[in-house]
Amino acid sequence: MDKQTDFVLRTIEERGIKFIRLWFTDVIGTLKSVAIAPAEVEGAFAEGVGIDGSAIEGLTRSFEADVLVHPDPTTFQILPWRSTDDPTARMFCDIATPDGVPGVSDPRNVLKRTLARAGDRGFTFYTHPEVEFYLLKSSKIGKDGQPEPVDQAGYFDNVPGGTAHDFRRRSVRMLEDLGISVEFSHHEAGPGQNEIDLRYADALTMADNIMTFRTVVKEVAIEQGVYATFMPKPLQGHPGSGMHTHLSLFEGDSNAFFEAGAEYQLSKIGRQFIAGLLRHAPEITAVTNQFVNSYKRLWGGDEAPSFVTWGHNNRSALVRVPLYKPNKGQSSRVEYRAIDSAANPYLAFSLLLAAGLKGIEEGYELPAEAEDNVWSLSDAERRALGYNQLPASLDHALSLMEESELVAETLGEHVFNYVLKNKRQEWKEYRAQVTPFELRSNLEML
Ligand code: GLN
Ligand code: MG
Ligand code: MG
Ligand code: MG
Repeated sequence: MDKQTDFVLRTIEERGIKFIRLWFTDVIGTLKSVAIAPAEVEGAFAEGVGIDGSAIEGLTRSFEADVLVHPDPTTFQILPWRSTDDPTARMFCDIATPDGVPGVSDPRNVLKRTLARAGDRGFTFYTHPEVEFYLLKSSKIGKDGQPEPVDQAGYFDNVPGGTAHDFRRRSVRMLEDLGISVEFSHHEAGPGQNEIDLRYADALTMADNIMTFRTVVKEVAIEQGVYATFMPKPLQGHPGSGMHTHLSLFEGDSNAFFEAGAEYQLSKIGRQFIAGLLRHAPEITAVTNQFVNSYKRLWGGDEAPSFVTWGHNNRSALVRVPLYKPNKGQSSRVEYRAIDSAANPYLAFSLLLAAGLKGIEEGYELPAEAEDNVWSLSDAERRALGYNQLPASLDHALSLMEESELVAETLGEHVFNYVLKNKRQEWKEYRAQVTPFELRSNLEML
């Protein structure tokens, strides 16, 4: 037995843990959980725990329904929101077939595979997300047909005695108890909108952390009698919830994006990585922005990107190179601003990494940076400057994804086909709706 598993078994015993939740994620990014008793944990480490994969959307085809979940002992944490009477812990799991083949539709496995490819080139991939979400009075729709936010505050507002304040303090505390470091938290621009930024970690740990983060935020909201949503655009007329993600590659201890004296201290590898992100952005958007609703955020304005550009201090850009403090070379990074808070982090990080790596492998040239606010330009001006558009609808995004070798290779056939099928269905249902907008603008006029 290795040291980690030994530590888990000892902690379960010493802390009197009664339930151990085994966590995994489906293709769309929903957290799944199966609880086992302490006596089962040793066997779970040795052989895995059998579940019926067909019960989980996208996880297997029905004729290969039996899968095993294998807990990863390095992810063992006690859940701080459970009572002390029945202490409960969790571990993230990898999914495999009974013959030990990694599960083809396990998003965690997709990310591990992509990270291994980066590893072959000597790179470790780090990410840090700025997660935005809304706090609502409840999940019910209000009288004006919109959800009701908990406050009317705005960007960086300090709300005395406000829900958001207590909420952030409690969530940050819980995250820290779970071993997830928080760098920053503040009120965002929308009423009831908040942001919590996690300290950077390797991409696999971070994807796990984001799944935990969403659960913590939902749990704290319940505890405080409010409702939290990661829906990309819950309120018409207010900003959506993005998950700007900062990306960096390390070679050993040194940041591969850093070059002292270069423009923005950005190395050639950094420039090629950005070029890869830009070239492949349209085809990966169906995964970084996977809902019909995601495109209500990306249409332009409210600091959400809709054009494929990069810049330094330009908040309309898709990729931004943040300002560096001098002598802070190890923090060189690029910020990808399209991805939203409802993305499956395992799949989205896989594609961001694959796009960046492609730029490095093929030596892509970085186009000129966008100096202007791209939203204020006319279509003709944008065309003249060569600024491509991000897909404007889920339908368009799916068509671009369907043609993408990069996405097919990275996700693997099974996940690739599942995403297309599932999301085409969502589009079809959406298209069949007759919306209040149409009734309002057409009924009396036509
Ligand atoms: N909410 C904006 C978005 O959707 C981001 C605002 C900001 O953090 N500057 O991307
Ligand atoms: Mg921020
Ligand atoms: Mg923000
Ligand atoms: Mg940001």
